Amino acid sequence: MPRGSARKRPEYRDVGIVLRSYKLGESDKILRILTREHGKRSAVAKGVRKTTSRFGARLEPLTHVQLLVHRGRNMDTVKQAEIIESFPGVREDLDLYVSASAMAELADSMTADEEPHPELFLLLEEALQLLDRYPERAPFTRAFFDFRAMAAAGFELRVGTCASCGKAPGAGGASFSLHMGGLVCEGCSSGGERGAGRLVTLQADTVELLAWMGVHRLGEWPSRPPRAGAAKEAGALMDRVLEHWMEREFKSHRVMKEFPQGRAREGTTDG
Ligand SMILES: [Zn+2]
Repeated sequence: MPRGSARKRPEYRDVGIVLRSYKLGESDKILRILTREHGKRSAVAKGVRKTTSRFGARLEPLTHVQLLVHRGRNMDTVKQAEIIESFPGVREDLDLYVSASAMAELADSMTADEEPHPELFLLLEEALQLLDRYPERAPFTRAFFDFRAMAAAGFELRVGTCASCGKAPGAGGASFSLHMGGLVCEGCSSGGERGAGRLVTLQADTVELLAWMGVHRLGEWPSRPPRAGAAKEAGALMDRVLEHWMEREFKSHRVMKEFPQGRAREGTTDG
């Protein structure tokens, strides 16, 4: 038990996004929620699966909610929940729902339990709003969310200049070094790689888009909209970077993910 926890108030209010839920017993659910101020929490929502539940559909995954939570000795309990946004457009479109779920999963795997990470919360909130409002920009939004989420977790990709020689990449495109976490210009990538490891070749406009992402925040949109292929290529690159990086840096988090709440494991099933 962390020091000072005895002085904590028995209840807290916060906003959160439901990342996922697990069935518990006959009618309850355990929710994993990324809250803005209290970090990632697990909490029981009692009776939520009964048709007469006062929570109704409010606590579905990917819902942005205002919560009143009671701190229990072993597990928190949701006392009240009000929807702030349910992102109906995302729910009605399978592709958007898959993108949103992947972003929630990334946020989940990047955070440790009960460690506040308001920046990541705000990124996820913003990204869900963007998916809902601009469905046609989904590949761009997801790539940009991944990019910004990694930066928020301390892994800033080097996209403005070559990670090897520091020069701006030329007009002929560039490659991305997973090992170095940054772009590598044509000269460096052809010159024996210099420790750059395996390289991912990128189109020139994808390189341009990445450089733009490096100096803008989520919610902004390029004055010259990116070609769909560039957004997709950037997204595919983020997937590879995350795979590479998480394997290396997030082993402990992955273990936590496999055992989300040791104390709550009994009587739960995925669902
Ligand atoms: Zn270079």
